[in-house]
Amino acid sequence: MKFATKAIHAGVEPEPHTGAVMTPIFQTSTYAQEAPGKHKGYEYSRTHNPTRTALQNNLAALENAKYAFAFASGLAATDTLLRIFRPSDEVLVTDDLYGGTYRLFVQVIEKFGLKFKFIPMQNAQNIEQHLTSQTKLIWIETPTNPLMNVIDIEAVAKISKKYNITLAVDNTFASPYLQNPLDWGADVVMHSATKYLGGHSDVVMGVLATNREDLAKEFAFLQNAVGAVPAPMDCFLMLRGIKTLHLRMQRHCENGAKIAHWLRSHPKVEKVFWCGFPDHPNHEVAKRQMRDFGGMVSFILKGDDLEEAKRVMSSFKVFTLAESLGGVESLCTHPATMTHASIPKEQREKAGLKDTLIRLSVGVEDAEDLIEDLSQAIG
Ligand SMILES: *Cc1c(COP(=O)(O)O)cnc(C)c1O
Repeated sequence: MKFATKAIHAGVEPEPHTGAVMTPIFQTSTYAQEAPGKHKGYEYSRTHNPTRTALQNNLAALENAKYAFAFASGLAATDTLLRIFRPSDEVLVTDDLYGGTYRLFVQVIEKFGLKFKFIPMQNAQNIEQHLTSQTKLIWIETPTNPLMNVIDIEAVAKISKKYNITLAVDNTFASPYLQNPLDWGADVVMHSATKYLGGHSDVVMGVLATNREDLAKEFAFLQNAVGAVPAPMDCFLMLRGIKTLHLRMQRHCENGAKIAHWLRSHPKVEKVFWCGFPDHPNHEVAKRQMRDFGGMVSFILKGDDLEEAKRVMSSFKVFTLAESLGGVESLCTHPATMTHASIPKEQREKAGLKDTLIRLSVGVEDAEDLIEDLSQAIG
């Protein structure tokens, strides 16, 4: 099956008792057993829930994975993955990543004895020199948040396989419509489904997907043993959102390209970050591993003046100043004070993230209205 058909049909069968075409919200915590231990595959909703099962099967199909697991948030998914490792294991992480992931690694997981090293990975050659016999996981995000750096998943996977290290890719920014990391050799795909997968800014959820049976067993065990599971209602909303993922992504990409080019030609704009520009340092990699370039665009104004950047962000009428991304509505974020405030300024600047950077999540409205809004705000 091709992508759009999978988005609408994979994992979803008419409900056998009534014929309901849409998967019902199985709002139950427990299931009747005929005799002790004799049940229909469902015992307790932390372990299994039919609405969640349908969603997980759908998510697996979208990522060309055998297995997918849904969690209460993207960070809950990441936290669950990290629990398969042990004290003194080392994790190599791209240096330009979502602030919440950085906080989870450094302020929470590090206390349990894991070590994290943050390095630039746009050039995969840079990775090998940082590996030790203790390195057990490589964690990348591509395109990165918010600098739109692109990492060559296939090149990193070659190294991770050579040294028998697990490679996990945060695929939130691209969504499975634009990029399938498992096809390029990654072991695990993580999503904040809160963003493009849900697409309507009304659910917080996370995903882990994999083809490796050993990892799937661990994830199934931990999903139940740790218990960071999503509610049935949220699984229903996620299934509903995913049915239009391909349509939304097409418009996100179209609008993103129009706005990136418009910003680039604006006399007050210093730099635009978008991996669709042919002179983007990793454009060729983006072209190869992604199907299009997405709707995330960041920019810096000339003069590098924080007050002026703040004035622009407060002047929007269509864009909403808010955290998050990937919804149908356009959002504008100030990473330094919002999504990336949990990364120390020094670390942010080392990764090239200036305090004056403005990040746009370009929605699916009319591009003309979005450009007019940017035009009046920038002045
Ligand atoms: C939002 C986000 C996360 C965290 O996901 P939550 O659903 O908010 O817990 C992780 N990675 C990226 C790239 C994100 O944008």
